[in-house]
Amino acid sequence: MAPKTTKVAVVEEPHGYEFGGPLGAFGITFGLPLLCYSATFLCNDISGCPVPSALSPSTITIEKLKQDVGWPANGIRGFASWNVTFGVLAYYVLTLVLYRVVPAQYGTGTELRCGGRLKYKFNTFWSTIVTFGLCAAGTFVYGADFPVWTFMYDNYLQIMTTNLIFAYIAATWVYIRSFQIKGSNPEFRELAAGGHSGNMLYDWFIGRELNPRITIPLIGEIDIKEFLELRTGLMAWILYDFAYCAHQYKTYGYCTDSIMLLSAFQAMYVLDSYWMEPAILTTMDITTDGFGFMLAFADAVWEPVVYSWQARYLAVYPLTLGPYGSAGVIGVLSVGYYIFRSANNEKNRFRVDPTDPRVSHLKYIETKSGSKLLISGWWGTARHINYLGDWIMAWTYCLPTGIAGYLINHSSVALATGQSLADGSFTYQGPSVQTEVFQGAARGYGMVFTYFYIVYFGVLLIHREMRDEAKCVRKYSDDWVRYKKIVKYRIIPGIY
Ligand code: NDP
Repeated sequence: MAPKTTKVAVVEEPHGYEFGGPLGAFGITFGLPLLCYSATFLCNDISGCPVPSALSPSTITIEKLKQDVGWPANGIRGFASWNVTFGVLAYYVLTLVLYRVVPAQYGTGTELRCGGRLKYKFNTFWSTIVTFGLCAAGTFVYGADFPVWTFMYDNYLQIMTTNLIFAYIAATWVYIRSFQIKGSNPEFRELAAGGHSGNMLYDWFIGRELNPRITIPLIGEIDIKEFLELRTGLMAWILYDFAYCAHQYKTYGYCTDSIMLLSAFQAMYVLDSYWMEPAILTTMDITTDGFGFMLAFADAVWEPVVYSWQARYLAVYPLTLGPYGSAGVIGVLSVGYYIFRSANNEKNRFRVDPTDPRVSHLKYIETKSGSKLLISGWWGTARHINYLGDWIMAWTYCLPTGIAGYLINHSSVALATGQSLADGSFTYQGPSVQTEVFQGAARGYGMVFTYFYIVYFGVLLIHREMRDEAKCVRKYSDDWVRYKKIVKYRIIPGIY
């Protein structure tokens, strides 16, 4: 897909370490998967969220803990299965086939250090609509028992393991392959400026090659980073939300406003990024970061698993927001989305065509690099005002879970299925026992899981802003200092 002109690759000076260097890379590589597994076990539909043992640590015994967390009967071997592995592979194959057959637009990436530009194929939005359409048809026919939803819900642990292994394999494969890059090449392959420190673990983690690509027979050329970042990971996040809606419906016979709003907000966020797919070409992920374990893990595991924790919680504890609660979260979402979308659009329009009447009145400064920096409108209020909008929206993913936390009681005393009890408890009839879900002593502690996203995302955006700042200092030098004197705040006008 790359135009066939050979240019000489300019090898930039490697940047300093990020993410705490090799030690940080080691911590993240093993720590984050551990976090995902721990949350899976400690917030579950067997004993509670958090599990009762976590609420009274002094009474913990290994046997009780194993029972509470639903430890697989066959131990660690229960973390994976061949059936599930084939199911996950089928998902990847489907996304590849849709990438191949769904009508697409084409775009060209920003200029690389070697002077070339890579071509990209965009059809994620319509491929996803086809996938959602197939799932909608399946749900219409099978209801909440549609096999895709039950497969995803019942094999959560095994799907996570398969995707984790996939991330390790993908990162290792692209790392080894990056050593093929030797100076000039007609495919415009080049190393990421910050990805070739010489430390094997760090480079493997951060990504050595900037834009690894693969040509698959019958499918064509795939830009691995763009494909996995937008397509498989984000789409799986939303599919999980839908699977949780189906599970809630199957369990209680209804879907609450909380889970429906949450899923709609997140689906809108993801579909918005798909609709704006070409805008990804100017993001730091595509222009600067290599593809290594960090991104592979984020796409394959972190996004689908962690981003859907709130819906997973609501699938078991069906909290209702009511008209005022719903109006509140919709109001917060509207403010966040307005800032996020208008700030991003303003910059994109200005960068594509500064004479566009929607942005031509804005003030800017000229820089020695040739690029112009906006100093009025949204970009005159803070240097990353778009991050503020994104973070405000993130609150609406967590707020619908309320003061979270529940415990689960299995008893033989029968109550009516779906009956909502006066004290905020819910009950459903399982195959052999009656189950009651109530808050009790767990109230508030479940927020560790359901509000994790807001804390994590705040840290991600602050860290990302610092990384982008470092990039802009490298690129704009004195002009960036001048720009910072005019636009003083980083993310929150008047505060930060
Ligand atoms: P931005 O869209 O904020 O782009 C930063 C770049 O814009 C800078 O490197 C610079 O690039 C250019 N720029 C900076 N200031 C100005 C200015 N005043 N005028 C014109 N151009 C300027 O960064 P991201 O790629 O990080 O984010 C894109 C969106 O994606 C954001 O809304 C963010 O919230 C979202 N996001 C979401 C994530 C998620 O997990 N949900 C993760 C990361 C991002 P140049 O070299 O071109 O000048």
